[in-house]
Amino acid sequence: MSATVNALLREDLRDFGGYKSARSEALSGSIWLNANESAWANPGDADGRLRRYPQPQPEVLCARLAALYGVAPAQLLVGRGSDEGIDLLLRAFCMPGRGAIVIAPPVFGMYAVCARLHGARIIDVPLRDGEAGLRANLPAMGDAALDGNASLLFLCSPGNPSGELLELDAIAQLAQRLRGRCLIIVDEAYLEYADAASAISLLADHDNIAVLRTLSKAHALAAARVGCVLGNPQLIAALRRVQAPYPLPQPVVDAALAALTPRALVLTRSRMEAVHEARARLLDGLRALPGVRRVYPSAGNFLLARFTDADAAFAALLAAGVVVRDMRAMAQLGDALRITVGSMEECRRVLAALEVARTEAAA
Ligand SMILES: *Cc1c(COP(=O)(O)O)cnc(C)c1O
Repeated sequence: MSATVNALLREDLRDFGGYKSARSEALSGSIWLNANESAWANPGDADGRLRRYPQPQPEVLCARLAALYGVAPAQLLVGRGSDEGIDLLLRAFCMPGRGAIVIAPPVFGMYAVCARLHGARIIDVPLRDGEAGLRANLPAMGDAALDGNASLLFLCSPGNPSGELLELDAIAQLAQRLRGRCLIIVDEAYLEYADAASAISLLADHDNIAVLRTLSKAHALAAARVGCVLGNPQLIAALRRVQAPYPLPQPVVDAALAALTPRALVLTRSRMEAVHEARARLLDGLRALPGVRRVYPSAGNFLLARFTDADAAFAALLAAGVVVRDMRAMAQLGDALRITVGSMEECRRVLAALEVARTEAAA
């Protein structure tokens, strides 16, 4: 049994079974008349794949994802992107209007958005900007979780937008300290780019860790909306009761399976090397530009850069048709842009646009 799930699951949801869909009952037969589906396929649905409700947790896809991440299927919940995972965790573990979460801004915005919509308090423990880059202060986050009675603590590794890769030892220590008190979510949306071990390896020893993975980034399937929560089976079972009945449309399941064949996985892995090369090239190029104050090291497929005139840099890139992420509204990032590492050619275009802006300013 998971002590943490027992301690932290919302008290008012302990005996809540969730919606029992026709598809969730383990029945067998040859004539299916239990879900009020049509007896005929839609004329636009040529092979009749869409006539029936899909499986709530598509078995074949779950098995494939479990193998990919090295867990048992019972340790995995698949949903509409990791964004849905974040929302489900909030719903299951934070009392509306009373719960609290700990985050380390500047960080991916969805943790705060879901908390806000759910009426959960957000406890900020800002990243510290030092020699090594923008770094999360895990001991301080732990203090804040205990002081504020937070039930969820979000880590992002590699960090978006910091690029920081967290040490698994540090995550394990924090988990040990917060055991039974707070659930640590490790968002690994960019882990494939990092060439580092996953926090999934910590699940066996820490029942208060959950990991988020997605097919949106390295697997190039953002439009399909497929993401996973990985954790102990009690945690996953609790989230399933909170999730909507049929989170994944059948065409999405088919697309995800096609994206996870052995051949597709080999190609995806080889693309990571291309990103590493382009990232190094973009990093060097940006650092050589005089208008660039600082570029942070990054384990993801993006670089965070500070500019002496971020306004001008953003405008110059736009004028060249290059759209990057404006970070200037974020705490600590008033002079920063986040640039996705695209193809080598796209990186060249970024550098060329900034180079032109510099020569024009000098003229
Ligand atoms: C892009 C991103 C996600 C979103 O993932 P989806 O699976 O597309 O919902 C989650 N976390 C971080 C840190 C991201 O940058």
